[in-house]
Amino acid sequence: MKHYNVAVLPGDGIGLEIMGEAVKVLKAVGRKFKAEFALTEALVGGASIDANGVPLTDAVLKLALKSDAVLLGAVGGTRWEGLDYSIRPERALLALRKELGLFANLRPAKIYKDLIAASTLKPEVIDGVDLLVVRELTGGLYFGTPKGVEVLPDGTERGVNTMVYTTPEIERIARVGFEVARKRRKKLCSVDKANVLETTELWRKVVIKVGKDYPDVELSHMYVDNCAMQLIRNPKQFDVIVTENTFGDILSDEASMLTGSIGMLPSASLGATKNRAMYEPIHGSAPDIAGKGIANPIATILSVAMMLKYSFEMEEASNLIEDAVEKVLNRGYRTADIALPGEKKTTCTEMGEAVLKELA
Ligand code: NAD
Repeated sequence: MKHYNVAVLPGDGIGLEIMGEAVKVLKAVGRKFKAEFALTEALVGGASIDANGVPLTDAVLKLALKSDAVLLGAVGGTRWEGLDYSIRPERALLALRKELGLFANLRPAKIYKDLIAASTLKPEVIDGVDLLVVRELTGGLYFGTPKGVEVLPDGTERGVNTMVYTTPEIERIARVGFEVARKRRKKLCSVDKANVLETTELWRKVVIKVGKDYPDVELSHMYVDNCAMQLIRNPKQFDVIVTENTFGDILSDEASMLTGSIGMLPSASLGATKNRAMYEPIHGSAPDIAGKGIANPIATILSVAMMLKYSFEMEEASNLIEDAVEKVLNRGYRTADIALPGEKKTTCTEMGEAVLKELA
């Protein structure tokens, strides 16, 4: 029997509610596919600040480092907003990303037929959209030096950030892009601004070189401004998009809004080795609805599906969860965030139970 250690970090707000349902799904899949998941739950974010004074303790970091994967809910909330930035709940995420070396962020955006009406775009534009953005997470403009703001002799100020990438950094994210595309429809679009930025000219050159190792994947290139436009004009043309940190930040948010609801979208952050991976919904702790039992657990349940696919090579189990979610939507289950006016609203637990029933 396969055995995997998973660190379960529910976090704050709706994190606790949605994680409860996701864990039930993970356990059910374990029984069905004869895999043993040893789950260790721990505090992170605001909950950890309350108990230990810091958003991430050394013990929890150690747990994450020795686990095969981390499943995270969400962190943050109004009660911790007055704290110094260095001990805010969100610091836990940055520390986990850094310590686990999570350099690749994968965000799928898939339209479910039954939720087409929830999108702001025309049905014919989004029907059939199924794309994935691979964003470089630890380099580029957000981390490059020199950076900062200086006062000039004449009293004016000068702000600087530096977009910097080395060949190995580009190579490893390009490989993730090609590998992921291989598991999908085998189309990879590398997004850059090679007509203006030298850094991304290097990006394009390196991606083309790495592409020689993946002759089965169709590689294309697009400038980032055009990509922003194409995502709205004709999103169906994309399978996998790979891009640098800042472009990926913006494009993945844009892509996620094609689907209409933040409560539906999972994500994966991957590091250099198989046991360096964190899976989490893209949304936050939603303090406005926390404790009401009405949060949508699907983003977290689909994060479990991603974990099975990318960390545990359990593709069949992963697909089964995705199919179960689709069927549940098809049967008309709707949490408040995806319900249209007049539609009956499902609670968080009812949604989790409905997915479990489909899995069975
Ligand atoms: P949010 O994603 O928590 O909420 C935005 C809106 O979407 C809210 O109206 C919320 O009710 C709704 N929503 C979010 N997830 C939902 C779900 N699963 N089901 C139904 N509705 C859902 O973003 P925010 O309000 O900007 O931030 C709230 C807190 O979360 C802040 O403290 C922020 O720093 C933190 N945050 C954490 C993460 C993370 O843990 N990865 C990400 C973003 C924000």
